[in-house]
Amino acid sequence: MHSADDVLAHILTLLERQITKVTIDTWFSDATAVALKQDCFIIRTTSPFKKQVIDSRYGDMVRDILKELFSADMGFVVMVGDELEELQESEIPSDKDEENYTFEDFVVGSSNRFAHAAALAVATNPAKTYNPLFIYGGSGLGKTHLIKAIAHTVRKNRPDFRVVYIKGDDFINELIKDLSNQRMEEFHNKYRMADILLLDDIQFIAGKEQTQIEFFHTFNALYDANKQIVLTSDRPPKELYSLHSRLQTRFEWGLLADIQPPDYETRIAIIKKKAEKSNIYIPDNLVQYIANNVTANIRQLEGIVLRTKACRELLQQEVTMETINQAIRDILKENPGMKPTASIIISEVCKFYGISPDLIKSNNRRKDVLLPRQVASYVMRQLTDLSLPEIGKELGGQHYSTIINSIEKVQEKMKADPLFESTVKDLMSNITEA
Ligand code: ADP
Ligand code: MG
Repeated sequence: MHSADDVLAHILTLLERQITKVTIDTWFSDATAVALKQDCFIIRTTSPFKKQVIDSRYGDMVRDILKELFSADMGFVVMVGDELEELQESEIPSDKDEENYTFEDFVVGSSNRFAHAAALAVATNPAKTYNPLFIYGGSGLGKTHLIKAIAHTVRKNRPDFRVVYIKGDDFINELIKDLSNQRMEEFHNKYRMADILLLDDIQFIAGKEQTQIEFFHTFNALYDANKQIVLTSDRPPKELYSLHSRLQTRFEWGLLADIQPPDYETRIAIIKKKAEKSNIYIPDNLVQYIANNVTANIRQLEGIVLRTKACRELLQQEVTMETINQAIRDILKENPGMKPTASIIISEVCKFYGISPDLIKSNNRRKDVLLPRQVASYVMRQLTDLSLPEIGKELGGQHYSTIINSIEKVQEKMKADPLFESTVKDLMSNITEA
């Protein structure tokens, strides 16, 4: 459930209850999480001096926080840069992620049913069903989850199998390193002796000449030996334009399975599942609210749940519309390309003017309702891709000509009144940056 990075972030936030942000930055800004083990959390810092300070001044605080987080006594170890080398490889825990990315935890819906079934078939019967299996789809839709679930399942069921999982960009880096150190034999052995090779984000090798050639040979060697190959990519093979056509063809030999963005029901199921896993209760109406407002990908849904949980734990707040809205805005901020939804905009405008969303969506033409409604129209036009009729619909079914009128009114008023202009601008940046 927790990655080491998450735990470090959590610890730093919780430390703010006891020490100032400036102090935390001074000592922890270049600390990185190394590993989270059953009974111990390891971080790394850059100098022996920092290590000493962290150990002596903040070690106990961190141990208390770990106890709070995991309800168990945990060790806390600070390492300095080079010490990492001395740490036995066996001491570095196996990929924690893989334990979280299981088939049981994968919510199946119409958008991913096919890819899920294909992945499960391959995991249960490697090299006997689809070879290669090529899973593609946009970011945050579950490709890595599925490919790691395959790795996890095969490792569990077939301890004799050599499972090799690597990300496309790491494959490239490893190849470059081994080439320059003249260790190509090791490279070949590692990949060609795999019983199942899982290459995540293969799109990175497109356009990389040497890597493609190497991969071509690896692919052939494994395929001919009847070993399973699984690939993921953000696009189907034929859209990997700078990929050699002989690789493209090979990628299409087996099964292509795409993952689409989740539909509403699947989003609801995912939010509930993630909330349950994080031990947090989110009322149904708020679950629906999230599902209506966060539609692009599952990583964001997960982000909302984690933030909501953090709000609850750190600030001891109940889960309310306000905490959810804040979480959604935080996610927007991290994804500048993402557009706020109408209901976020309406709720912010209403909050600013102190009126209720029901009122703004009504036919009431009182001045203190009319102006916020006009501002909301203007902001939606600026910040979303909604059409005029769609904006009208969001505002309780106004005619689009009324919306045009409202937008013009706001533009005129902004020109005439600098104070109003800056209010509207602040409001917009609150919505996109809050
Ligand atoms: P991708 O590799 O396609 O960019 P990931 O597999 O990393 O996406 O998924 C992003 C996050 O969303 C992960 O934490 C993953 O566990 C979660 N996730 C994706 N799809 C599902 C699903 N169907 N059910 C549950 N969690 C999911
Ligand atoms: Mg991925």
